[in-house]
Amino acid sequence: MSITLDQVTKRYQGAPVVNDVSLEVAQGEFFVLLGPSGSGKSTLLRAIAGLTGVDHGRIALHGQDVTHVSARQRGVGLVFQNYALFKHMTVGENIEFALRVRHMKAADRLKRRRELLRLVALEGMDDRLPTQLSGGQQQRVAVARALAHKPQVLLLDEPFGALDAKIREELRRTIRQVQRELKITTVLVTHDQEEAFALADRIGVMNLGRLLESGKPDELYARPATRFVATFLGAANLLLARQTTQGIRFGSTPVRAHPTDKLDGGREHEVVAVLRPEEIELAPTRDALRTNFIANGVVEELVFTGALERMRVRMTSGAAEGQLVSSGAENHASSAFLDVTRTQYEHRAFPVTLQQSVAVGVRRIHVLPTPLSSYTACASGPEAAERLARHPFLAELAARMKTRIASRVEPTLAAPDRNVAASTPISGVAVIATQNNLLQQSEWLLQNGAAELLVLPSQAAPPQRVLIHWADDSARRSTLAVAASVLRHVPAEAVYLGILPGAADDAQKPLGVRALLDARSEAQSVHGLEMRTELHFGGAAEALNRQLGESTDQMLILGISSLQQLRDQFGAMLASPVPYSLMIVYRPAKELEVNPRLDGIRDTGGAGERAALS
Ligand code: ADP
Ligand code: MG
Repeated sequence: MSITLDQVTKRYQGAPVVNDVSLEVAQGEFFVLLGPSGSGKSTLLRAIAGLTGVDHGRIALHGQDVTHVSARQRGVGLVFQNYALFKHMTVGENIEFALRVRHMKAADRLKRRRELLRLVALEGMDDRLPTQLSGGQQQRVAVARALAHKPQVLLLDEPFGALDAKIREELRRTIRQVQRELKITTVLVTHDQEEAFALADRIGVMNLGRLLESGKPDELYARPATRFVATFLGAANLLLARQTTQGIRFGSTPVRAHPTDKLDGGREHEVVAVLRPEEIELAPTRDALRTNFIANGVVEELVFTGALERMRVRMTSGAAEGQLVSSGAENHASSAFLDVTRTQYEHRAFPVTLQQSVAVGVRRIHVLPTPLSSYTACASGPEAAERLARHPFLAELAARMKTRIASRVEPTLAAPDRNVAASTPISGVAVIATQNNLLQQSEWLLQNGAAELLVLPSQAAPPQRVLIHWADDSARRSTLAVAASVLRHVPAEAVYLGILPGAADDAQKPLGVRALLDARSEAQSVHGLEMRTELHFGGAAEALNRQLGESTDQMLILGISSLQQLRDQFGAMLASPVPYSLMIVYRPAKELEVNPRLDGIRDTGGAGERAALS
C-alpha cells in the first residue's frame, strides 16, 4: 500500500472534523476524495501531507509510519486551489525551487525542468512570470513544481477550483496524463461529482468528517450503501418501500424487484429504495410500459437540456402512497415527486407535454441496506407527539437522513398495559421523550413492532460521542448496523464498550481484547463503520452509567435480544428519565415475547439480523 490511514481523527475545539478515517490507497492509484464543503477533505489531505498533526490514529506512506514525521520528509507533492506560485519568480525558477533547496546541480535542475515542462505541456514558457500566464497555465506550473523533487505521492486540493469549465477540462486531462505517465499515487480532493467520475480509479465519499464509502465510480453509483452517497453521486429519487418475500412494495403497489428468501427480522419491513432518474420509464398507459409499473403521474416540470430531457412527475397513485423521502436536489419531501431524465430517443418514442398524465415504470431499483428508514414520534397525547416530532435533534437527524418524521398517538403510553396491543404495528424507528415510565413505554413499543426505539431528553443536543454496547452477541450485528446508520448522520466519535462481568482480571483480558477486535473488524467490513473500542469490567449498566456520567453530550446505542434482558440488566438505568439520547435496538433472538394479538409481526426465523452491506 502506498498510503495507509488507520482511524485518523482530527478535532477542532473538541469536535471531530476528520472522524476515524481508515483508508488504503494502492501504489499508482488515482484516488479522489469527494464530499461537500466542510466535510473534512482538506483537513485529511493536510494530515496526509504532514501540514497538520492528528489527534488519533496513524498514517503510513509506503509502509513507513509517518504520523510524527515532518511534511518535508514525507516526500509528497502538493497542489492547492489558489495557485500559490512565487509571484516574483519565473516559471523555470518556480519549478526549480524545490531542487535548489535540495542543492541539486544547475545542469540537472535544467534537465528536470525541461522534462516537467514537457509533461505539463508548457515547453518554452520557462521565462514567463506567473502574471503572464492564464489560470490554467499557472496550475500546470503548480503541478510541475509539486513533481520536481520526484515525490512518491501527489496530493491535490481542488486544483480546478478557480478555473472556468473549458480550462478545467484541459487541465483535468493533463493531470490524468501526467498521473498515468508517472504512475504516481495521487489523492485529489474535490466537491465536484463530475470531476471525481472523470479522474478517479476509486472515489471515497466524505461527509461530516467520516469516510462513508469508497469504491470504483460505476460501482458506487450503481450500488451505494448509504443515502448520502446515493444522492450526492448524481440525482436519486429515494422512496420508502416495504420489503416482502415477493419483492418490493410501494404502498399497495407490488413491484417484482428484489424478491428474497429470507426477510430480515423474519418479517416485512420498511426499506429505502433508490430510483435513478434515468431508470424511470414513462408510457401513455400502464399496459404500454415495458418495465415494472410503480405509479400513475402528471408531468409538472419539463426542461430541455440538449442531450437530455429532465422532468418532474407528480405521482397520483401507486408509489405515491409509498411516501417519497426525497427527490433530487430540491426539497419536496412531503409531496410525491419523481425526477425523471429521458434521452432524445425516448422522447421521440413517447413525446410528453406539461400536465400530461403518464404511467410510470422503473427499470432498476436499488434497495439500501440501511436499517433506519423513517421516524415515528410516539406519545400518549397529540400535543406531546407533535412537540416531540419537532425536537431539534430528531429534526436534524431526519433532515440529514432525508427521511420523514410521522407522529403517532398511543393513549396507552400514559400507563402502558402489556395486554393492550397497538392497532397497527409500529414501523420505522419509534421515538419517545424521556420520562418516568420510560422502561414500561420502551417495553410496550418494542413489543408492538418497533425494532428500534429512540429516547430523547427535551434538551438533547447532537452528541459528540456515541457509545455502543450490546447485551449479547445475537444483538451485535443489528446494533452495529444501526450505529453505523446513526453515525453517518451525526458528527460524533464512536466508541464500542465491551464489558466483561466481574473484576478486572488479567486472565480474562485477552478474551475481552479479542472480542473488541472482532467487533471493530465487523463494524468496518460489514457496516463501513470505524469505531474505537474500550474494555470495561463489572456490571453492564454500572459501566455504561459511569461513561455516560462523564459528560452530557453523549448518546448510547444499546442492543438487546429480549425484553427480559432490558428489564433485568438495564431496568435500573431506565427507572428514571435519562439525561442522554438513547437508541435501543431490539432483535429478539427467539420468538418469546410477541404479543399474541400481533401474531406474525415478529415470527423471526433467524436471529433477526439486518441485511449486510452487499
Ligand atoms: P473541506 O475541505 O471538506 O471543505 P475542511 O477540511 O476544510 O473541509 O474543514 C472541515 C471543518 O473543519 C470545517 O467545519 C472547518 O470550519 C473546520 N476547520 C478547518 N480548519 C480549521 C482550523 N484550523 N480551526 C478550526 N476549524 C477548522
Ligand atoms: Mg477544502
